[in-house]
Amino acid sequence: MVFEGLADKLQNALSKLKSKGKVTEQDLKEVMREVKLALLEADVNFKVVKDFIKTIKERAIGSEVMESLTPGQQIIKIVNEELTTLMGTSQSKLTFSSNPPTVYMLVGLQGVGKTTTAGKLGGYLKKNGKKPLLVAGDVYRPAAIKQLQVVGKQLDIPVFNMGDKVNPVNIAKAGVEHAIKHGNDIVILDTAGRLHIDENLMDELEGIKKEVRPQEIILVVDAMTGQDAVNVAENFNAKLGIDGIILTKLDGDTRGGAALSVRSVTQKPIKFAGMGEKLSDLEPFHPDRMASRILGMGDVLSLIEKAQANFDEKKAMELEKRIKSQEFSFEDFLDQLQQMKSMGPMNQILEMIPGVNSKQLKNLDIDDKELVHIEAIIQSMTPAERRNPSIINGSRRKRIAKGSGTSVQKINSLLKQFAQTKKMMKQFSDMEKNMKKGGKMK
Ligand code: GDP
Repeated sequence: MVFEGLADKLQNALSKLKSKGKVTEQDLKEVMREVKLALLEADVNFKVVKDFIKTIKERAIGSEVMESLTPGQQIIKIVNEELTTLMGTSQSKLTFSSNPPTVYMLVGLQGVGKTTTAGKLGGYLKKNGKKPLLVAGDVYRPAAIKQLQVVGKQLDIPVFNMGDKVNPVNIAKAGVEHAIKHGNDIVILDTAGRLHIDENLMDELEGIKKEVRPQEIILVVDAMTGQDAVNVAENFNAKLGIDGIILTKLDGDTRGGAALSVRSVTQKPIKFAGMGEKLSDLEPFHPDRMASRILGMGDVLSLIEKAQANFDEKKAMELEKRIKSQEFSFEDFLDQLQQMKSMGPMNQILEMIPGVNSKQLKNLDIDDKELVHIEAIIQSMTPAERRNPSIINGSRRKRIAKGSGTSVQKINSLLKQFAQTKKMMKQFSDMEKNMKKGGKMK
């Protein structure tokens, strides 16, 4: 999941505050020490961590927080707010040129996911009613042009290329002219990367920048590379000037350092996050939602948006209602499973549900292949059993196991998981209510 180790440790540290009626300065100091270690281990820039901890301590001590009725929850709220600020406060959207085509120039080192991201971005903009053109400007990596063509074909987006013998500056210029001639209002320019930043690369990018005057230069960085990603961003920004960042591979077991420091170090916004290898795996980056996910508070808004993108509005509304209500039956569960299958890997979906923290997610251990079994099991239950699982006794379990071609053991574990999920939803909803109350106490 996103930031698994970090999320575990932060949630663990903060959980010590949650239930406390009284928090002393010593308590706060101890918890903040753990938070600090967690951030450093997640490869967050040292200076960023130092400032972050300092701000939280200042906000928590010497205000009404410690004396309030729910000091622990107030502190968690502050941590949430500061994490959000660290990642940029609010969503930073793409800007468009008043004189189309709008040119986005994607830059970054080799292997970070630039070509894939060019396609993803094209797909995203196409879904939003734009007519993008992909321009193959990476003439050094042998397979890059072909790769972009394949991506374009999959998305039904045109790809402009001039082979690998032409100067990239000329390709960029010709690409923009091609877009004007063919009515494309967006140009996404894939440029060459290198293994490391070097002068030649920067000169070449500078040349393209001068020639086509992109609306935005977007740096693509690989979140898996942690501090390196931040150094690269700092360098690109100093030498070329960037307008925004796309973080890729946030779906892997990244430690999270890049996401938490890159904004603060460069002062440039993270605009999107790559969440997988599929061309649909690109999400607008919302700092507030990401902070909530890291703290195990879920991200219902992204979940709903994902649902809306994948099925019709009515179904999405139903999903929202079901997630919020605690009357959650196996029937809902089955219905959701079937709908969610189109939304991506189960773990990514589950971590957006409030109350499902990383530890619980591990305990649930839901594997996508398992979903087929779960579906079969639920389908073998009677409607009454689905609504009221407590009636599923030993003989019913045997019958369901036989009907679904699984084992009694599997039925037992699903029933247990289901009960846990329900309990978690209840816990969160209680916590959310308390936090709302706490928030008003200020
Ligand atoms: P480029 O050299 O920067 O153009 O990189 P590519 O677009 O060829 O991507 C390099 C590798 O990273 C490919 O195997 C991609 O599938 C993979 N990749 C790109 N974005 C993501 C992402 O968001 N998540 C994951 N897991 N893999 C990604």
